[in-house]
Amino acid sequence: MTKHRRTGPRIVTFFHDTEQDFDCDVKAIDCIEAVDKFIALEQKHGIKTTYNVVGKIIETQPELIAKIRNAGHELAFHSYSHDTNWRPEIFYNEVESCRRVDPQVQGYRSPRSQWDQTTIAAEVANQFGWTAESDKASEPYFISDSLVRLPICMDDWYFFTDREDKTAWLDNFEFQFERRNTLAIGFHDCYAALMGNSLFELYDGVIQRAKDYGAIILPFGELATCFAHENGKANLPNHSTAMNNGKAHESALGDFRFRFNTDQILPFYPDRVKNFARKMIPNALLKR
Ligand SMILES: [Zn+2]
Repeated sequence: MTKHRRTGPRIVTFFHDTEQDFDCDVKAIDCIEAVDKFIALEQKHGIKTTYNVVGKIIETQPELIAKIRNAGHELAFHSYSHDTNWRPEIFYNEVESCRRVDPQVQGYRSPRSQWDQTTIAAEVANQFGWTAESDKASEPYFISDSLVRLPICMDDWYFFTDREDKTAWLDNFEFQFERRNTLAIGFHDCYAALMGNSLFELYDGVIQRAKDYGAIILPFGELATCFAHENGKANLPNHSTAMNNGKAHESALGDFRFRFNTDQILPFYPDRVKNFARKMIPNALLKR
């Protein structure tokens, strides 16, 4: 078998669909513990990720939300109710209900990646900036004037359902890594609660592999902001003030500047990769 070429940098986003017992026969307390373990692994690796959390959980579990935010991770919505009968009639209202829970959160992801034009219309009307779903496209694009679609690459479903063991799943990651510039990789709190260590070992393994391959690891919101900025639309909803004001911009992006320090990451890569990185990453950030 031919070994895949290992080139970088790719941009990798790790995300967590955090839904506890809303659509899964599991104990909520075990899911909360799973989030603790995800956060601990992320701290060990020094990475920031995105937690897509069901709106009702955000509403009722402030301690959990504080833990996620205090660890520096991005909070986004994973619908309001994660209704077990997830159907188009409720798509619009679910987005609206999320906005009532929090006026600032920038991102939305639908349960089971099932969405339609009413989802998009609701996201635009409620000033969301990004939407992460399964998509025929493999790279970010504007799905409407103000909304960035961030395609999902893979998640832990095949591992959870035993269709892939750790080796096969990581091989698939490697296969995708070779073919895409951006990869969004998802893990569920409820699967972790049911599977225990094997899922955390998988997560630890894929983070390590992404780092070994020179990936840039960042949350959805930062990728969306970057993408919008580079494509001449600096006014993503909920980031408009930040992007229009130099100082606020810097603080909104936090250690993002550090991650994209050219002196640190680019000299090791061939020109085509540098060009890719320069295209993806705002010049203003690269120069820092
Ligand atoms: Zn879900």
